[in-house]
Amino acid sequence: TVSDGENADPRCTRQNSVSSVSQSLREWDIPYDELDRGEVIGKGRFGIVYSGNWHGHVAIKELRMDYVNDEKTLEAFKAEVVTFRKTRHENLVLFMGACMKPPRLAIVTSLCKGRTLYTHIHVQKDKFNMSKTIMIAQQISQGMGYLHARGIVHKDLKTKNIFLESGKVVITDFGLFNVTRLCHDTRRGNWLSIPPGWLCYLAPEVMRSLRVIQKPDDGLPFTPYSDIYCFGTVWYELLCGEWPHKGLPPEAIIWQVGRGMKPSLANLQASRDVKDILMACWSYQPYERPEFANIQITLNKLPKKRLHRSPSHPIHLSRSAES
Ligand code: ATP
Repeated sequence: TVSDGENADPRCTRQNSVSSVSQSLREWDIPYDELDRGEVIGKGRFGIVYSGNWHGHVAIKELRMDYVNDEKTLEAFKAEVVTFRKTRHENLVLFMGACMKPPRLAIVTSLCKGRTLYTHIHVQKDKFNMSKTIMIAQQISQGMGYLHARGIVHKDLKTKNIFLESGKVVITDFGLFNVTRLCHDTRRGNWLSIPPGWLCYLAPEVMRSLRVIQKPDDGLPFTPYSDIYCFGTVWYELLCGEWPHKGLPPEAIIWQVGRGMKPSLANLQASRDVKDILMACWSYQPYERPEFANIQITLNKLPKKRLHRSPSHPIHLSRSAES
């Protein structure tokens, strides 16, 4: 077995553990030439995602090379690889290895065959019944609970990063936010460029840390609690088929969430328990948000029969200060 330094004998020198981390990383290194790169699947902040072949079908996430120009980015990338290789759960995308030799940096994972929840909900306008909605939420909270138990913060949980493959949830992109941030310059003059849909997932404490001039070293304060806030938003999207704060300009969302205001759920046709999950996950105080294990218990108790959304009861979000 390979030691990664975490369980190493305390007498070991730091140098030893550093070298064992690099030795372990080497085991996950995939020579770029071994990859048979296929079509572009899509582009994100991180770079370009290709389908490809490496001992079977894989997804290849290539880092945008124009931003990989220093040691720091490379180190951040390797740190994410260290995080990735620790994950083994049926609701998490399978990490297969990484190309770690500049100028070719890429992460190789299993290829998700289904569609993302984002596509189901916001593009195809699919309506899930309550039983399916709960089943999806349960699997997300299982995968996320596992990540947290392993000490990993997702940092970017959103419907775009959750695939649904024949009824099975697969979560992707955990822990990659740091690399994304380092690679992608979000500053353009005095503007903070905000990816569409991103704000709805930002917990109040993260929202309050946004700066118009974000220094490259300013990390946003992502924690397991901020992941739980994101889960609340995903739960809302599943229930309502739309984003919270729909129609509000970014500055209004930033101001409202930062001040502890939540969208009203008065017009959401759902039981008290269903709404309670939302409100708990969206708690202003991070430590008041439930852990995934508790969310799981609540989800298990929900009645699965009733349809939660009805076209005759459109959901109108009114601004409210309930918290
Ligand atoms: P953002 O950069 O804002 O997170 P994004 O999630 O769309 O946006 P990427 O994660 O880079 O960006 O993904 C780009 C595209 O590749 C998306 O269409 C995504 O669904 C797809 N994709 C990502 N990972 C996989 C995978 N393992 N299998 C199949 N498709 C994938």
